[in-house]
Amino acid sequence: MEAQKVSGSNALVTRFDDIAGIERSKLQVKEVVEMLRSPSRYAALGASVPRGVLLAGPPGSGKTLLARACAAEAGVAFLNVAATEFVELFVGRGAARVRQLFERARKMAPCIVFIDEIDALRARSNDPLRLGGGNQEAESTLNQLLTCMDGLVTRESGRPVVVIAATNRPEVLDEALLRPGRFDRVVQVDLPDAEGRLDILKVHLRLRQVPLATEVNEQSLSEIAARCEGFPGAALEAMVNEAAIRAARRNSSTVGLNDFEVAVTDFMQSRESTRSKFPF
Ligand code: ATP
Repeated sequence: MEAQKVSGSNALVTRFDDIAGIERSKLQVKEVVEMLRSPSRYAALGASVPRGVLLAGPPGSGKTLLARACAAEAGVAFLNVAATEFVELFVGRGAARVRQLFERARKMAPCIVFIDEIDALRARSNDPLRLGGGNQEAESTLNQLLTCMDGLVTRESGRPVVVIAATNRPEVLDEALLRPGRFDRVVQVDLPDAEGRLDILKVHLRLRQVPLATEVNEQSLSEIAARCEGFPGAALEAMVNEAAIRAARRNSSTVGLNDFEVAVTDFMQSRESTRSKFPF
């Protein structure tokens, strides 16, 4: 199973400062960080750390990033798995894999378990494959996940395990997942507005230490951001990379406004031609 612990490596450690344009979602998950940092303070008031948080939003909007940042900011381990891994391998292995994941999590507690693409464990009633007793694998895996989540004791526990799941399709989730004590906190991660897109561009320009030509300033960058309507953070990051590659191709030592403009145009064109592959 692909499970990772946050290490000291910069590639894996994400901070809240490196996430922009989704301020409301950030505020909502920051509370979980506080609870993980000092569970006893909440327990003294009779409050429990939530067992499950569901991040719902379009592809590339920063859901994984938020989950990683929670673990890094709280200073706890991060176990990362895609729900598709539970159901795509050998029949009958999904439930066992879920059990192993939670056993590992309990040993590593306090920690965050991140389950990406949780919609792979689709609602029983929403999945036509299930009619006539078809695919039982996702169902038994889902049941095992529910059992494991119910078994997580967070109240008065100094070593909580919090499960964060992500989905692009909250509407297909089994309602049992959203019951109290399971993923009862739903955090919407929306596409950024123009101001948010500008902030995300600035984050990636800073992280990559992109040397900018003098004509690239706050004003011109906000015009670029305004053009990127509908771009999630992942697309904005890719766009910064593309602009830098263009500058390198021209043998320039700085990235100019035209590099960004062409990168946006190219990106929009490729989005049109591959809309089914990149549905943002
Ligand atoms: P998916 O649903 O496809 O799994 P996701 O919502 O989990 O996507 P991430 O994997 O978190 O998206 O984002 C991919 C990359 O895009 C991040 O590693 C980051 O570099 C960049 N990115 C996405 N959103 C943001 C954001 N809000 N701020 C800064 N960078 C972002």
